[in-house]
Amino acid sequence: RTVYVNGDYLPDHEAKVSIFDRGFLMADAVYEVTSVLDGKLIDFDGHAVRLKRSLDELDMAEPCSKEELLEIHRELVRRNGIEEGLVYLQVTRGSDGDRDFVFPAADTPPTLVLFTQSKPGLADNPAARKGAKIISIDDIRWGRRDIKTVQLLYPSMGKMMAKAAGADDAWMIEDGHVTEGTSNNAYFVKNGTIVTRPLSKDILHGITRKAVLRLAEEAQMQVEERLFTIDEAKAADEAFTTSASAFVMPVVEIDGVALGEGVPGPVATRLREIYIEESRKAAI
Ligand code: PMP
Repeated sequence: RTVYVNGDYLPDHEAKVSIFDRGFLMADAVYEVTSVLDGKLIDFDGHAVRLKRSLDELDMAEPCSKEELLEIHRELVRRNGIEEGLVYLQVTRGSDGDRDFVFPAADTPPTLVLFTQSKPGLADNPAARKGAKIISIDDIRWGRRDIKTVQLLYPSMGKMMAKAAGADDAWMIEDGHVTEGTSNNAYFVKNGTIVTRPLSKDILHGITRKAVLRLAEEAQMQVEERLFTIDEAKAADEAFTTSASAFVMPVVEIDGVALGEGVPGPVATRLREIYIEESRKAAI
């Protein structure tokens, strides 16, 4: 596999980053994941805009222009022959060759790393036909979840807790309300109305969330952005999650309680179809 590191395209085993890199030592890094369908990028613009916002919020320098980023994404997709899959991008604050809590000088070059993951079956996904089983866990993450940092230890532990419970993923709860999934935004549907938590510092501003809510409104579906409890979700007709890597994923069970018939619901199924169809059309 060919990867990208700070200006170079290299075989993955030759790619190297300093042990003093703050991404490694302090999780001082942000990332993006952009999906690829038909060899083209889905919503590159949305991801580039969010990346800029994450960097700005952390006073981190932009590693290169948006045009250069697009070029690197396309070059990696081309070199690795990706038809369906993902492009992972990470920017770290770099390093001045030592470990210190204080940020290095502002002109310290950031580290920019990108690689691809081939995922045949991303669109025609058997897991989406089955639907996901969810457990609920406490949300003990930091207070700036709107910044897409690489602090993924707790979400990673959440997936392990789900696995141990025989489920697929976890939704997190703070002050009695669902925040989001470990790597996705969370929704339920009751009497035809789609409910999801409003944007704030408490959740990641999903690129897929934005696209799906727009498509839902265009399809005359009712959308309510408000806080909700896990009990409301358990009593719902259906539920789903959204993310760049899984698109719209139906949820069929929460904490052992089957939703509706216990199979993917019509709203989630329809939104998945529309989202994939529209994304293919708009891909670049
Ligand atoms: N919330 C969290 C915590 C996530 O990690 C992700 C995916 N990175 C999302 C939501 C979904 O965001 P997007 O649609 O931009 O992939």
